[in-house]
Amino acid sequence: MTRAPRFDAAAEEVARVAAAAPDWASLAAAARPCVACPELAATRQHVVVGDVPEGGRPRFVLVGEAPGATEDETGRPFVGRSGALLDQLLAEAGLDRGEAAVLNVVKCRPPANRTPKSPEVARCSGWLRRQLELLDAPAVVALGLSAARWFLGPRTVLAQVRGRAHDVDGRSVWATYHPSAAIRFGPNGAPRAGLLEDLTSLARSLA
Ligand code: SF4
Repeated sequence: MTRAPRFDAAAEEVARVAAAAPDWASLAAAARPCVACPELAATRQHVVVGDVPEGGRPRFVLVGEAPGATEDETGRPFVGRSGALLDQLLAEAGLDRGEAAVLNVVKCRPPANRTPKSPEVARCSGWLRRQLELLDAPAVVALGLSAARWFLGPRTVLAQVRGRAHDVDGRSVWATYHPSAAIRFGPNGAPRAGLLEDLTSLARSLA
């Protein structure tokens, strides 16, 4: 079972509602008015539920940390600078974003892009867990430390787990750098190279 942080009452309620969603549309409709995290619910513009490919099961799922400013404005994941770089690196790796589902661990933007707090991750985990069940994709890419820790445990060190697939609940989970780290360290930095390398390994594993 995925090692999400410990539950509280709000997390249990999210998990209960999410588990009852029979399909993606029902889950999205239930998640959009979610106010389980009062601070995030008060400041967000949209609950960024995620993108799924038209017409069925994704080849792989991309999971980031949380929406940023552009994602909050548009209601779509990975559409800002990080999204543009992610699209570029996916294409360089021979992958098509149109075949992927794109999700976040936390679906509301934290104020000033702070790291999501542990109770927020715990509350939003019910949505993500059910999304992964409904999508039933064979491979997942965890982008950045928050996503890596959601799948691989709270003590995960990115440098120690990236570069290979991990079996989590029967899925191959690749943990790698978040595109924002690749932007921060520049075009010649290690995060960009590592992210491209890991996406290329994923592409090879899916071929
Ligand atoms: S972050 Fe997740 S659990 Fe919290 S209010 Fe938003 S959708 Fe609900």
